[in-house]
Amino acid sequence: AMKLPISTSSNDVVIADNDYVDFCEDDRKHRPAKPIFPGSRCAGSLVSEVDKSEESFGAWGYKDSGFVLNIDKRGRRIVSMKGDRYRISGKPLSRLVPFLENEMNVTIDPLRTSLPSFVADPVIDLCEISDSGLEKLDRIATGGTSIYSKDRCRHGSGQSQADIFSIRRGSLQDRRFPDVVVWPDNTSEVSQLVALAAAENWCLIPFGGGTNVSHATWCPPKEKEPRPIISVDMKRLCRVLWVNKEDGLAHVEAGITGGELASQLEKFGVTMGHEPDSIEFSTLGGWIATKASGMKRSRYGNIEDIIKDVSVVGVNGILGQERGGTGKNSTKIDKSNAFGRVSTGIDLRSLM
Ligand SMILES: Cc1cc2nc3c(=O)[nH]c(=O)nc-3n(C[C@H](O)[C@H](O)[C@H](O)COP(=O)(O)OP(=O)(O)OC[C@H]3O[C@@H](n4cnc5c(N)ncnc54)[C@H](O)[C@@H]3O)c2cc1C
Repeated sequence: AMKLPISTSSNDVVIADNDYVDFCEDDRKHRPAKPIFPGSRCAGSLVSEVDKSEESFGAWGYKDSGFVLNIDKRGRRIVSMKGDRYRISGKPLSRLVPFLENEMNVTIDPLRTSLPSFVADPVIDLCEISDSGLEKLDRIATGGTSIYSKDRCRHGSGQSQADIFSIRRGSLQDRRFPDVVVWPDNTSEVSQLVALAAAENWCLIPFGGGTNVSHATWCPPKEKEPRPIISVDMKRLCRVLWVNKEDGLAHVEAGITGGELASQLEKFGVTMGHEPDSIEFSTLGGWIATKASGMKRSRYGNIEDIIKDVSVVGVNGILGQERGGTGKNSTKIDKSNAFGRVSTGIDLRSLM
């Protein structure tokens, strides 16, 4: 459903509705088993959209949130956040438009404001993995496998302006996207995916929240990376395995979003002390991979100061540094592990 500025009887004008780029909704309803973008390959049930995210496509934030500009009966331009997700939701922000006009030296006329147009049917390259390859992936990743173009676009993008505008404008033809997106559910499935990719000569790119602004989840061009590319969405690995309040330690899976982790830890009366602005969507694994920094770093440190140990799935097994003798290829970390300082060798966290 595409929403453009519409004047209603109450003079409400939607200026920044996160839903408006969600152009696949109608398509999904009417043509559920077909690719949305011409050029995508249709492979039966594998085409179904498995990303049930509430996140907007082509905009930062949730589908049910967004700023709305209303003109009230007295002609005042009042901005409010729609939905009820945030404390600010529904509250009239009557001074925002004058503030923006003043600061940015622009005039905001809602009745003349138009949203950028976008191409409803952008074409992206065909998935290069054969049906038998897709079936192998599907057997491993119990969370789902998708060659649906919207999933592939999102997983080959981040949240930079270039990402958002290329999705909105449909100017995706020159970009390469993952051939497939998979959703493993646990570490064993990740290990199996890595082994399969090594055997089939496929390239894997992990995907956390996709909030990077550095093109970190962009697929390298064919000349640099000729192998087919699979995006491994980590968000189903989102469990808090244990919390040891006494020692201030927690063992958490890498795909958990910051928002979910914060609310889980809140139940124990503890905080992780890491609050990047992207906290609602970015994930623990993404923070570690990008060496993220949060607004409370002066007190708690950056992510590399907060993380005590990581388990890394590689082709030759699982790497871990301080797992207290829990056995090769185990990701189990002993609750009572003292996490002593690293005295010799390379610190695995720094390698990541
Ligand atoms: C509005 C906004 C605010 C932001 N605020 C901050 C901020 O305050 N501080 C800050 O540091 N950054 C910030 N960022 C940038 C971004 O949120 C961080 O870089 C974040 O750490 C990325 O995490 P992610 O889960 O979204 O990772 P993704 O974007 O999904 O991936 C980033 C990289 O990490 C890799 N990766 C992801 N998960 C894993 C995994 N499990 N294992 C191995 N590799 C993995 C990916 O392959 C990719 O290379 C912001 C971005 C936005 C859009």
